[in-house]
Amino acid sequence: MPSDATKADLRASLEEERASLRAQLAELGFGEDGGLDYDQNFADSSQVTAERGEAEALAKSLQETLSEVEHALAKFEENTYGTCESCGQPIAPARLEAKPAARFCIDCASRR
Ligand SMILES: [Zn+2]
Repeated sequence: MPSDATKADLRASLEEERASLRAQLAELGFGEDGGLDYDQNFADSSQVTAERGEAEALAKSLQETLSEVEHALAKFEENTYGTCESCGQPIAPARLEAKPAARFCIDCASRR
């Protein structure tokens, strides 16, 4: 289990990541409401459609990362951060430092 100081650092970096992901989503037009902010007049242009497809794919991956980050932050509230969600064993601090949003220990992750 990571020390409290390490956990505080990990939490801070998760909060930073969450803020940056939200900013990137907002920039793409995917704000808090999740809606797209495109001008409907250009909706039939194939170029815009292609760009929109790319933006949606990027936004989708950002949203997935964001939900992982939010999930990890929720685990701080439940005091289960740093515990594997599969076997309940502590996740190695080195793994958490490499991937603060990790949900599983290295053994369970490699088995999945
Ligand atoms: Zn595990």
